[in-house]
Amino acid sequence: MGLDAYVPCRCLAEGLVEDPPVPWSMLGTAGGLPYLKRDCLGEERDEDTDRKWWALYEKLCDWREASCQHWGMEICSARVGSWPEVSVFRSYVSRFDDGQLSTLRNLLPHRNSGSVSPEQASAVLSELDLLCERAVGCPGWFLVDADTGEEEYDYNPRWGGNWAFSHGGISCGFDPAGIFVRKDDVEVFRSMAVQQRVKYEDDRDVVTFIGDDGSQFTFDGMGFGRDDLDLKVVARPLVQDDIPCVKPLRELFQASIETDTPVYWC
Ligand SMILES: [Zn+2]
Repeated sequence: MGLDAYVPCRCLAEGLVEDPPVPWSMLGTAGGLPYLKRDCLGEERDEDTDRKWWALYEKLCDWREASCQHWGMEICSARVGSWPEVSVFRSYVSRFDDGQLSTLRNLLPHRNSGSVSPEQASAVLSELDLLCERAVGCPGWFLVDADTGEEEYDYNPRWGGNWAFSHGGISCGFDPAGIFVRKDDVEVFRSMAVQQRVKYEDDRDVVTFIGDDGSQFTFDGMGFGRDDLDLKVVARPLVQDDIPCVKPLRELFQASIETDTPVYWC
């Protein structure tokens, strides 16, 4: 689950592709790529036409992969990020925007569809540079596995730091001041470091957080995953790689400029 994107090549538009295995009249174009029309064998759909349609569809897919020098008629294709990464990207854009990151603010979609015109590509690239310039060296907050030192999660102020929601109005998460549990939006637990202990009882997970001062809070539902973990909140200066999605977005919008073709989300 996440957001992907591609930039089609110009071969189809410039007539540089090999002839398709079906007449051109059976094809339409969507997202800059050819597709087999649903009604290309007539309006009536029975089992026989369905079987024929799928056979043609497979041929068309093979053709699309290899009919020009670009695999799948795409000049660039990339995973932009998982949805949580997309959300963290948005939160960094909001945090570092003083009015000069307006293209980035509305850039990423909330669904796997839509496109961005090549006219916007140079603004996207310069705003990505500006975002990184501003972010690098500023404090970032991470939830760290205290045993391995691994940074597990980025702090995301977009959700008030909330990470998981459970029954009974319980949520847990972390922010720069520590790991917290809220009940009906009222904080009932907080600690910079937590031992998370999970027991499976009566068909449900029972999570206990033990704080660094020995305080405890137990609730039914989701903690940070379902394993016993020792976690702590750590602050350190941000580096460019901390901001998700930047590298694939640079590749996609560079290709968009080079080919004067939109970036399509998928
Ligand atoms: Zn091509």
